[in-house]
Amino acid sequence: MSITTTGIQKTENKQIIKLRMWLVHLASLGIFFVPYDHSLLILTAFTFFTRTFAWEGGSHRYFSHHSYKTSRVFQFFLAVLAASGAQRGPIWWAMHHRIHHKYSDTELDLHSPVHNKFLYAHLGWLVDSKNLYTDLDLMRDLSKYPEIVWLNKYHYIFPAILLVLIFSLGEYTTLLGSQVGGISAVIWGFCLSTTLSLQAAFVINSITHGFKPGLFSYRTFKTNDTTTNNWLLAIPTMGASWHNNHHRCMNSAKVGFYWWEIDLTFYILKMLELLGIVWDLKEVPETILKEGITSQNQLSKS
Ligand SMILES: [Zn+2]
Ligand SMILES: [Zn+2]
Repeated sequence: MSITTTGIQKTENKQIIKLRMWLVHLASLGIFFVPYDHSLLILTAFTFFTRTFAWEGGSHRYFSHHSYKTSRVFQFFLAVLAASGAQRGPIWWAMHHRIHHKYSDTELDLHSPVHNKFLYAHLGWLVDSKNLYTDLDLMRDLSKYPEIVWLNKYHYIFPAILLVLIFSLGEYTTLLGSQVGGISAVIWGFCLSTTLSLQAAFVINSITHGFKPGLFSYRTFKTNDTTTNNWLLAIPTMGASWHNNHHRCMNSAKVGFYWWEIDLTFYILKMLELLGIVWDLKEVPETILKEGITSQNQLSKS
């Protein structure tokens, strides 16, 4: 199949994206109505954390910021896993994210809660007509790979495949227990898990920007934006909520800069590095780490 790797790439229209988003959220409420087994919690946690790692470690730290290197095969695997999380293709993701960094919290930021309503920053921007397409020419570092461009166009195939696999697991095997059928497995392991993973991504845009530091968050660095580090969201976002750190040093593979800033994505990347699957993880410069310590000491004295 030949694929164009230049120009503006269009995929599905926004009504389909809206419909999909509504369906997956509403279907998650089905957890109160379908037969339950503890195995469903394990399945949900597994599909939640693997796909949250895929958007934070893949679409974000790898495709958007090149914060580490890997093989072309693992790059494709990351893209497949990220697409299965229903956050569209990795080139689309990275393109819009780079615009966010370039114009953080200015009027040109695509999803700043400072210039938009909270719900628009949270998810409305995703179905805004101006944010639907991918400019492949702007993204040559990624669009030079035809397989990634192909996946970026047909990204919706991958959540669909995952849904069928999870249905089959519940319907045709007893691995999830005899109580659990295909529908239960899909409602928990696909719908609820996808909804939670999407929401984990959405809160980075709507909560770690635009709010003053408070009980759950602090600002280590005086960046030219309104970012905060949110400790409450650190585990469900797998480290992405150390967002003030990230805006201070966006290319480092580590986003929880200090030992107390739990960063599950970074720990997984370190394990993958030990296995030789990823390499050249970019470090946080020593000067930035010291700058953060100095600023925290000043904060605790004041
Ligand atoms: Zn941001
Ligand atoms: Zn970023």
